[in-house]
Amino acid sequence: MKLFKRGFLVLAIFSLLAMLLTGCGAKQQAGENNEQSEQAEKVFVNIATGGTAGVYYPLGGAMAEILNKNIDGVNATAQSTGASVANINMLKDGSVQMAFVQNDIAYYAANGTEMFKDQKVEGLKGLATLYPETIQIVTLDKTGINSIADLKGKRVAVGAAGSGTEANARQILNASDITYDDITVQYLSFAEAASNLKDGNVDAAFVTAGFPTAAIQDIAAQHNVVLLPVPGDVADKLMQDYSFYTKVTIPAGTYPKQDSDVEAVSVMSMLAVTDAMDEQLAYNIAKAIYSNLDALKAAHSVGAMITKEKAQEGMSIPLHPGAEKFFNE
Ligand code: GLU
Repeated sequence: MKLFKRGFLVLAIFSLLAMLLTGCGAKQQAGENNEQSEQAEKVFVNIATGGTAGVYYPLGGAMAEILNKNIDGVNATAQSTGASVANINMLKDGSVQMAFVQNDIAYYAANGTEMFKDQKVEGLKGLATLYPETIQIVTLDKTGINSIADLKGKRVAVGAAGSGTEANARQILNASDITYDDITVQYLSFAEAASNLKDGNVDAAFVTAGFPTAAIQDIAAQHNVVLLPVPGDVADKLMQDYSFYTKVTIPAGTYPKQDSDVEAVSVMSMLAVTDAMDEQLAYNIAKAIYSNLDALKAAHSVGAMITKEKAQEGMSIPLHPGAEKFFNE
């Protein structure tokens, strides 16, 4: 009897334990399944921008926030990069799903020309064009440099390696009969160019970005900056060879102590994706961005130039079908 009782007790405890264990196990498994399905539903949108002292970077941060707030299941983040050319390569290898790029660089990539010669990027699609990016050639008044011709023999920051800026610098110098052999070329981000210009380690810097650009504001806060003009004849020559340039004026007062207008050329910034992005996601992204333009304005003053009406101006590659659907509805 005693034995029987003890046996029964042991059995009862075992079965209770077993029940508890399997119960817990089942619960845990259910928890894991939930996490897995949540993860499966999360769509990651990594956004390639540019250097931290440019315009792509703050706008990209604002866009990531817009996407996170407005599209269910999207996990968007913006990252600092070497800008346009590097961004297209990141789109191509799938490390980002969306990128800020210049419309000229996007065209070269989609058509396999210039820096993408023999390396045509298949499936590159446009979401929207954004705002003009002006090629600003910055120096300090104390360098005595007054024109592009004066850059001969000088140390010139031509943008980060892999930037659109670098391509613009090369093309503008060439149109002015200057090659990289005539200058000391420095591949620097906008922030690096600004600090090197301030420290006297470079003489001038090319900055292709919406103005005012943080890097130039930073230099101008401590020094008298001079913006070198791109004269009309150089602009004409440039536009003959490269159709994406347009003539613009950098108005007096864009930067402290800049008291006259400066002739310049600009290209357009745009958002690029690939055909790997599904139509609904591209549609949702376009819709979220164009329904929250105030947040872009708050991130940078060029945000005021981003409108649905202008979103096709200067588009240099085929539109993604999702964006086409959004802009045509
Ligand atoms: N357009 C520049 C480039 O691709 C970057 C501009 C920015 O960072 O705002 O080189």
